[in-house]
Amino acid sequence: MYNLKEIKKIVKGEFFFYKSLKDYTSFKIGGEAEAFFIPKDLEDLKEIYKFIFKNKLPYFIFGNGTNILVSDQGFKGIIIKLNKGFDSIIVSGEEISAGAAADLSKAAKEAQKHSLTGMEFAFAIPGTIGGAIAMNAGCFNQEIVSILKEIKVLDKKGEIKVIPASNLKWEYRKSNLKKDWIILEAGFKLKHGDSKEILEKMNYLRSLKFKSQPYDFPNAGSIFKNNEGYKVWELIEKVNARGLISGKAQVSPKHTNFIINLGGAKAQDVWNLILEIKKRVKQKFKIKLDPEIIKVGKF
Ligand SMILES: Cc1cc2nc3c(=O)[nH]c(=O)nc-3n(C[C@H](O)[C@H](O)[C@H](O)COP(=O)(O)OP(=O)(O)OC[C@H]3O[C@@H](n4cnc5c(N)ncnc54)[C@H](O)[C@@H]3O)c2cc1C
Repeated sequence: MYNLKEIKKIVKGEFFFYKSLKDYTSFKIGGEAEAFFIPKDLEDLKEIYKFIFKNKLPYFIFGNGTNILVSDQGFKGIIIKLNKGFDSIIVSGEEISAGAAADLSKAAKEAQKHSLTGMEFAFAIPGTIGGAIAMNAGCFNQEIVSILKEIKVLDKKGEIKVIPASNLKWEYRKSNLKKDWIILEAGFKLKHGDSKEILEKMNYLRSLKFKSQPYDFPNAGSIFKNNEGYKVWELIEKVNARGLISGKAQVSPKHTNFIINLGGAKAQDVWNLILEIKKRVKQKFKIKLDPEIIKVGKF
């Protein structure tokens, strides 16, 4: 058993009990977190993180919540959300150093302003730097690791480590980052280019995403991971799941690997669609689809 009231006594940042997580996710779905913590600064985060491990408290780190499905029952434990104080973006020569809470699209824009090329693909991915690294986010055949030089992390002992990206193993939407690491900062290596051309490329790639993906309804991006052997959207199409509805959630008629919240959807509605798609694809193609979205809480 644990007592979250104890933690409230030592925090310096913002701390809430029974906070709805709905508005912290792009899906606009989910129950309450038992506790929700926004650290004031690194020292605050360190203290609480040590306390969490010492007392074996369940916890989860939130970025912008754009790849997350929170259970209708919420989360029993403490949600940590990095915010101000962790969102700096500093450009130096061909390198960018960005805090984990900085928006990825903002970092891409900053790169463009400094005539740095390599980050254009990331402009339309709606997460934070921390979330993008944790997910090895990518699109248009490029992943965040391709420009990542190093990451700065906090571990459960309260120690800060700088790890070269090349020391880690990166795969499609995953890596071997340790479970107890909180990403604090990332260093990117880009190249000098033409600022106007960079802007054109960013806008062009973003327009491609807007054309093919359902930005008009709350969603959490791709539901399942793609694989070299197949395109998930095609498999979902072929099992006649385009437009399939469960409660207030729907397989997007625009892009079958997206599930959209039609308004007031429950996490269970989304989960039912995920299970149904998995079942149909397994039956027809003997392929086991692997969800890309991260579940938070009990399902
Ligand atoms: C409309 C739309 C389009 C999208 N398009 C793409 C796309 O093209 N390509 C793509 O890859 N994704 C895409 N996504 C999914 C999502 O935006 C990415 O996965 C993004 O990188 C998640 O970042 P986030 O800050 O929202 O992380 P969250 O969703 O909040 O969290 C994702 C994971 O990262 C972990 N995490 C977050 N911050 C930290 C930290 N500081 N330290 C340790 N772990 C952390 C969380 O614990 C969680 O496991 C899309 C989503 C939407 C809604």
